[in-house]
Amino acid sequence: MPDLLLHGGRAWDGLADTAEQRPVAVTGGVLARPAEDAARGIDITGCTIIPGLIEGHTHLCWNAAPDWRQVYDAEDDAARLLRMAGNARSMLAAGITTVRDLGAPTHLAVALRDAIRNGVVEGPDLLVAGAPVTVTGGHCWFLGGEADGELGVRVAVRERVRAGVDWIKVMASGGNMTPDTNVYAPQYTVDELRALVEEAHRLDRRVAAHAHGAEGIRAAVEAGVDMVEHCSFQTPEGHAKDDIVIAEIARKGIIVSPTVSVGFARWEGTERWERRSEVVRALFAAGARVLMSTDSGIPNNPHAALGGALAVMARLAGLAPIKALRLATSTSATLLGLLDRGTLEQGRRADLLVVEGDPLEDLGALDRVRLVVAGGRVLSPG
Ligand SMILES: [Zn+2]
Repeated sequence: MPDLLLHGGRAWDGLADTAEQRPVAVTGGVLARPAEDAARGIDITGCTIIPGLIEGHTHLCWNAAPDWRQVYDAEDDAARLLRMAGNARSMLAAGITTVRDLGAPTHLAVALRDAIRNGVVEGPDLLVAGAPVTVTGGHCWFLGGEADGELGVRVAVRERVRAGVDWIKVMASGGNMTPDTNVYAPQYTVDELRALVEEAHRLDRRVAAHAHGAEGIRAAVEAGVDMVEHCSFQTPEGHAKDDIVIAEIARKGIIVSPTVSVGFARWEGTERWERRSEVVRALFAAGARVLMSTDSGIPNNPHAALGGALAVMARLAGLAPIKALRLATSTSATLLGLLDRGTLEQGRRADLLVVEGDPLEDLGALDRVRLVVAGGRVLSPG
């Protein structure tokens, strides 16, 4: 007998072109064969069940507001960890059941991930990178991840693996949010990045490289990173795609995490939107592997706004709603190596989002959350 049966609604499995009218059952935290009787039945007439959403790039330790840096600097570790737990809880309530945190103090990120897995606090399943590896004074140095030179970056990788991180994040270019870094130039040489990648792979971790400018992206790609974050091809004159680098990304099978936020909608209709759209469309057209990510936690990018960001992504990349939904479910699961989730197949983790209406037609339905199930547990209200 299943623990839970959701009936009366439609279900979309994360892959198919349509949703179908059928019940979904959960037993022991995983999806099961529906049966007539269940310990608990919930009528979800008028709703659609989809796999829980996956956020590929967040910062749980920031407040998503213009004063993010002052607030971060003023808080001690205890306050930061509580903020991270609160942000994680808000993401789960929005149906985001898996989150990769790509920048927080290492011990806090690892502690929160483990506390959620142990049932101490409620939140999405986390993958964490801890403090991004960055040059002295480099992008996000204040998260505690400065390391220089080939030996330095190897040590940085070893320290993070010892602490228990899931991914290695490296800042391959400067960043818009850190004064006195250069967004357009690489922070590390190709040899330094190569040493970092080699050390990470030796220890069975994959590398996600933050890179905005074409030179930083090119260095990361040449060094063989597994994933490029942002990949925005920023130049002093705006976004400008580099077709040679994009072709190399596709040829090497490097994953792109484009970090498209709900806040980016304010640029719609401007040249900036058009140039960014060209970059994203060129990545898809070249056959690059793209997952969904938003960089939530930075200003104008609330943690729980993945649904809104998916609508922006759909318009920016010219995707039908269902294709955008695939990015944030089955595709992101595959690209993050999480083969136990992302679809509604039997035996997968019971991570479910139930929304009113039909998100396959209207991504706005993602804001009308009826129910969230994470690892088979129905999220307590509030
Ligand atoms: Zn970020």
